Amino acid sequence: MMQPFQKVRALTGMKDILPDASARWEAIEDLVRRWLGAYGYRNIRTPVLEQTRLFSRGIGEVTDIVEKEMYSFTDTLNGEQLTMRPEFTAGVVRAAIEHNLLYDRPQRVYSMGPVFRHERPQRGRYRQFHQVDVEALGFVGPDIDAELIVMLARLWRMLALSDVRLELNSLGQADERAAHRVALVDYFERHLDGLDDDARRRLHANPLRILDTKNPAMQGLVDAAPRLGDFLGAESRAHFEGVCHRLEEAGVAYRLNPRLVRGLDYYNLTVFEWVTDRLGTQGTVCGGGRYDGLVELLGGKATPAIGFAIGMERLLELWNQAIAGGGRECDVYVVHQSDAAQRVAALAAERLRDAGIRVIVHSGSHGFKSQFKRADGSGAAAAVIFGEEELSAGTASIKWLRSEEALARAQQKTVPLECLVDELRLGI
Ligand code: ATP
Ligand code: MG
Repeated sequence: MMQPFQKVRALTGMKDILPDASARWEAIEDLVRRWLGAYGYRNIRTPVLEQTRLFSRGIGEVTDIVEKEMYSFTDTLNGEQLTMRPEFTAGVVRAAIEHNLLYDRPQRVYSMGPVFRHERPQRGRYRQFHQVDVEALGFVGPDIDAELIVMLARLWRMLALSDVRLELNSLGQADERAAHRVALVDYFERHLDGLDDDARRRLHANPLRILDTKNPAMQGLVDAAPRLGDFLGAESRAHFEGVCHRLEEAGVAYRLNPRLVRGLDYYNLTVFEWVTDRLGTQGTVCGGGRYDGLVELLGGKATPAIGFAIGMERLLELWNQAIAGGGRECDVYVVHQSDAAQRVAALAAERLRDAGIRVIVHSGSHGFKSQFKRADGSGAAAAVIFGEEELSAGTASIKWLRSEEALARAQQKTVPLECLVDELRLGI
C-alpha cells in the first residue's frame, strides 16, 4: 500500500500569487516600468543569492536585517556562506562595481522582484515580499534627491493614491552624527532617572534608538533631547535646503521628521519615507535615502548615490483599495454654467491634461447642483468651476472636494486661468 503523502504547504509568510491576483501584479509592473522609463531608468537584474558578507558589510552588522532577518545557509558543496537577498541595493552596487558600470558615467537603474526577510508575518509584512528598487549611482545631488522624490509623487498620482505622505530628514555626515551622538549620550546620562530599562540598555550601544521609544513616560525627555539637525554643518544644511526648495517648487508637500533615521547603516544626508494611514500598522510604502559611502565600502571607487525601495504588496493593497472605493476617475472635475462657459472649460481642460492632470469635463445639463453631485461621485480632489463671472473675468474657481484638502486650503478660490495648473498642483 502506498503511504499517504502529507500535503506540502507554502512556507509561512510566503504567498502564492494566483491568476486572479496576478493580473493586478502585471498591471502594476507595466505601469511602474512606464513610469521609470519616463525618467530614464534602465533595468538591472542581479542574482537572488549572494555571499553573506556582501549584506553584513553593505547593510551593517548591527541592523535588524543582518542581526535577525536574513535567510542564510552554508553551501554544502563548497562551504560558502550564502544569503537570499533581503534588499536590492547591496547587490546592485556589487554588480556596478564588478562590471565597471560607474567607470566613466553615472547610472540610473531599477530592479523589481522578490526579497526575503525572516520576520514575524502579519498584514503587510511577509517573509518573501517584492520590491521596486531604484538607484541613481554617481550623482551628488541635491537635484537628483528631489527628482527621485518628485518622481514618486508622480507614481502615486498615476495610481490615484491620495493618502500617501512624505516624511523627510537629513542625517548629515558621519562626523556630524558622531558629534550628535556624544551630546545625546551625555544628555541621557544626565537624565538616567527618566530612562526605562530598554533605553538604559541602548544608551551606549545605539542611543539613537532611544529616540524611537514608544514609552509615553519618556516622551518629554526624548522631545527635549539634542537634535541631529542642530549638529549639521553648512554643507549638509545647504544640501538639505536644496532638496526642500526643489520639492516646494514642484508642489510636493513634506513633513520634516527629525526622528526619521532609517534602519540601515549606510545612509547619509537626505532620507525619506512615504507613509499612509490606510494600511494599519505597516504604513510605510517606500523608504530611501542617500548612501554616498556604500560604493567605496564595498570595494569600488568612492561614488555618491541615492535610492529607494517600494514595497509592492503594500502598494498593491493601496491600489486595490483605491479601485474598490470607486477609485478616482479623475483628479479634477470641471463644471460649467452655459454653452459659452463649456467651450472655455473644454479648452482649459486640455491645458490641464498637458500638465499631466486627469480631467473630466461635465457633459449634459448645466444645473450646478447635479454637476457637483457628479464631481463628488468621481472621487476628484477638486471641482473647477466656470460660471458667468469667471467667464467674463478670464478666471476659474477651484472648490476642493475632499475634506482634508478643503481644510488645508481655502474652501473655494478664484484664480486667473494661467495660474490654474499651479493652484491645482497644491492639492492633487
Ligand atoms: P519596516 O520598518 O516596515 O520594517 P524597513 O525599513 O525594514 O520597513 P525597507 O528596508 O526600507 O523597509 O524596505 C522598503 C519597503 O519594503 C518598505 O517601505 C516596505 O514597504 C517594504 N517592506 C519592508 N519589509 C517588508 C516585509 N517584511 N513585508 C512586506 N513589505 C516589506
Ligand atoms: Mg524592517
